[in-house]
Amino acid sequence: GNEVQLRVRVAPLGNRFMLVLAADRTEELRLAGVRRDFVANISHELKTPIGALQVLAEAIEAGAEEPARVRSFAQRMQLEADRLGRMTKELIDLSRIQADDPLDHADRFPVTRIVDVAVDRNRVLADAKRIRIIPRVLEEADLLGSEELVTMAVQNLISNAVQYSPEATHVGVGVRVTDGIVEIAVTDKGVGIADEEQERVFERFYRVDPARSRVTGGTGLGLSIVKHVAASHGGEITLWSRPSQGSTFTLRLPASAAPAPEESA
Ligand code: ADP
Repeated sequence: GNEVQLRVRVAPLGNRFMLVLAADRTEELRLAGVRRDFVANISHELKTPIGALQVLAEAIEAGAEEPARVRSFAQRMQLEADRLGRMTKELIDLSRIQADDPLDHADRFPVTRIVDVAVDRNRVLADAKRIRIIPRVLEEADLLGSEELVTMAVQNLISNAVQYSPEATHVGVGVRVTDGIVEIAVTDKGVGIADEEQERVFERFYRVDPARSRVTGGTGLGLSIVKHVAASHGGEITLWSRPSQGSTFTLRLPASAAPAPEESA
């Protein structure tokens, strides 16, 4: 909310006056909250590659795969292990910088790269359910902030779309730019979310169906990460959904005004 938290100290000043000292603790408390969220968020993120490793290892152990497929599974496992290694390193880096404002030392990055990487990170999950992820970038634009955090947000939306959809359906990832705002919309034809749940799914650890989430490995943190990333980048996340028809999550972030510098060789 917008309430201000004050730390107040009162000191007597003679017998007719007193001195009142008030310090604004709003920012201090906000940062403490951001740091707490951050730790919770990271443990959630570590579960995705670990889940992929488990699925692939089980497939190999079952022994029904052809050698070529076993090799490709092993390659995929190396990629996931690499990613775990990178995330661990980033976790250490990030805990050093702590949870300060991503807009203070912002990078500029193209939205296409976010979408490509986020789609790619969901490939194993989607293939396992024969779900086709269809990116549609109508317009290119640059974003400003933390590329890793924005990628993580879009990745979470896509992995939810895949997880809460039946097999052999499509997940759309649309990008368009309206009035300086980049809109990334992730659409599925899955189970959907009832009206009365739609606010709550953005709360930390909230899951519509905890029993089902336990099977899929969900923790109820994914959407709170998305919300946190949106807010810290001056954007927002909205949801349209209808039970048993599907959902569209739209992440809106301000486009960076200046074009990205040309990459030099
Ligand atoms: P989880 O790890 O459980 O997926 P999230 O914070 O990502 O946690 O989502 C919270 C809850 O919102 C989920 O448990 C699920 O009930 C619901 N949800 C999220 N995305 C979708 C979706 N695309 N379709 C249907 N339900 C969803």
